[in-house]
Amino acid sequence: MKIVILSREDNYTNRRLVEEAEKAGHEVRVIDFTRCYVQLEQSKPQVFFEGESLNDIDAIIPRIGASVTSYGAAIIRQFEMMGVYSSVSSLALVRSRDKLRSYQLLSRAKVGIPKSVFARRTQDAASIVEMLGGAPLIVKLLEGKMGKGVVLAETRKAAKSVIEAFYSISAEFLVQEFIEEAHGADVRALIVGGEIVGAMMRQGEEGEFRSNLHRGGKALPVELSKKEHNLALKAASTMGLQIAGVDIIRSKRGPLILEINSSPGLEGIEKATKLDIAGSVIDFVVKRAQGKRRRDKIGA
Ligand code: ADP
Ligand code: MG
Repeated sequence: MKIVILSREDNYTNRRLVEEAEKAGHEVRVIDFTRCYVQLEQSKPQVFFEGESLNDIDAIIPRIGASVTSYGAAIIRQFEMMGVYSSVSSLALVRSRDKLRSYQLLSRAKVGIPKSVFARRTQDAASIVEMLGGAPLIVKLLEGKMGKGVVLAETRKAAKSVIEAFYSISAEFLVQEFIEEAHGADVRALIVGGEIVGAMMRQGEEGEFRSNLHRGGKALPVELSKKEHNLALKAASTMGLQIAGVDIIRSKRGPLILEINSSPGLEGIEKATKLDIAGSVIDFVVKRAQGKRRRDKIGA
């Protein structure tokens, strides 16, 4: 089978996916999708990469960075039009990248999330703070990642200033109740094909409320409760994701979904769990692509 990983990076996750795909006897390449271009004409969609038409690919594994979501989604969509199996659909990718849209979908599906407010106008700062029961509060940029756009405002005054500052630069953000009892930790469940194939707990550095490994957090193996297990699966399926990293925060009122990652990195979780998660991803992608090819052939 011919597999293409759509990524701009050379990192642990891509190397592991390539390694496992080759081990299973597949042909695999990592292609910088930002250098791909699409040809549109009546009824024959194509994707080109450096002059070469990528017309005999069986499966793609998109690993699209947040800053290039929209172009990445367009390339995935083109492969979808060509009938190529994608481990994440362009629609699910775009949805999961938008924190507001994700929370709207999750809340409609009755999946627990931290109480959050999205708004637009500066005058509302004080009422937003009150709506969430006062400080401490979390203010989060919608486009943030690796914990960089997440601010803990410890007083009402600080919360109001941060909100006003973000408004003044027209940044999009949400304001959220602070789950203090999580003590800077959260849980990441890695889902592949409707199953949890690994889970880890991330504990932020001493005095840090953010658990991100990029912020110095430590990854430890963890046992998920039944509730957390079901919540993670429901969250991924609500988002239409077959492969996902689901982040859960342990609150007094039970587990809540913090965010859902459609291109989860494998380094932290493989090292924490000692599991071959890249192998599970490749197995799943190959099975799905084969199934799709059969269905397409018989016109089902
Ligand atoms: P990013 O996309 O930048 O990773 P997150 O929403 O995952 O943003 O937040 C980063 C980290 O900050 C989380 O992993 C968690 O440890 C902490 N955090 C985020 N939101 C809350 C919250 N409402 N209460 C407590 N801690 C939070
Ligand atoms: Mg996060």
